[in-house]
Amino acid sequence: STPRFENKTVIVTGAGSGIGRAAALKFAQEGANVGLFELDPERAESVWGELEAIRPGSGLICVVDVSDPEAMEEAYRQVNEQFGGLDAVFANAGINGAKGPIEHMGLAEFQKTIDVNLGGMFLSVKLAIPYMKQNGGGSIVITSSVNGNTRFSSIGMSPYSTSKAGQVAFAKMAALELARYGIRVNTICPGAITTNIDETTEENELMHEIAIPLAFPRGGDHPLAGRHGLPDEVADLAVFLSSAESRHITGTSITVDGGESLL
Ligand code: NAD
Repeated sequence: STPRFENKTVIVTGAGSGIGRAAALKFAQEGANVGLFELDPERAESVWGELEAIRPGSGLICVVDVSDPEAMEEAYRQVNEQFGGLDAVFANAGINGAKGPIEHMGLAEFQKTIDVNLGGMFLSVKLAIPYMKQNGGGSIVITSSVNGNTRFSSIGMSPYSTSKAGQVAFAKMAALELARYGIRVNTICPGAITTNIDETTEENELMHEIAIPLAFPRGGDHPLAGRHGLPDEVADLAVFLSSAESRHITGTSITVDGGESLL
């Protein structure tokens, strides 16, 4: 079959690891030029090398904090200058952040997760608009989580769940606004996926105060699938939602959790 992203330009945020890395590779395999937005320069470099092996020149490293408005504006400009156009954005960068009792959480800790997950998503969507308008349309996919939609089992992760629920609401509002420009906006809600995200958890030592027994603890292999999800299994959906095959899908949220939300 013909590659779905031949001569297309895609931005992937959080492209250096996990779901973002898997998506960047798939986009490149399908012919796309990919802006690799990533905070960690070594991770960005490593994925860039993987893209070089797929198709030389298909990756552009943008070392950027998605919550920094000026840096993001400049990075979008660079992608446009290098590749031209903008067909899809996978707003995927995210952190777990503060985990602990609300009673003992500082506002700054709460806001850090909101800044990256919601602020970064906001900028990723906002900055795409002028380029996609010029392009005659586009597709934006946001990585939310079952933690923001259906499964509120990660006790202590109130900033994370708040940010993830906010992403689902924002995507619907953006879909409503941007349909007139041919821009679609959807969210993906993954269950537990094997990635590096647990490195970003900042657990409060008083977490034990609010611990409760769960039917199956998040992080454990759930009884339906018997395993965690893989980054590829989320990336396949991200690529589909970014492609013309999903042209009548907008403002929706799709769960990829092997049935985890049912439990
Ligand atoms: P990951 O940590 O493996 O990858 C995320 C990447 O984003 C990292 O390379 C990190 O350096 C980068 N990043 C973090 N903050 C950034 C910032 N401010 N600016 C630019 N880059 C930044 O994690 P992942 O699991 O692949 O996470 C991707 C998305 O998937 C996140 O939004 C996360 O909330 C969501 N998600 C993950 C799971 C899971 O179980 N892993 C479940 C549901 C949703």
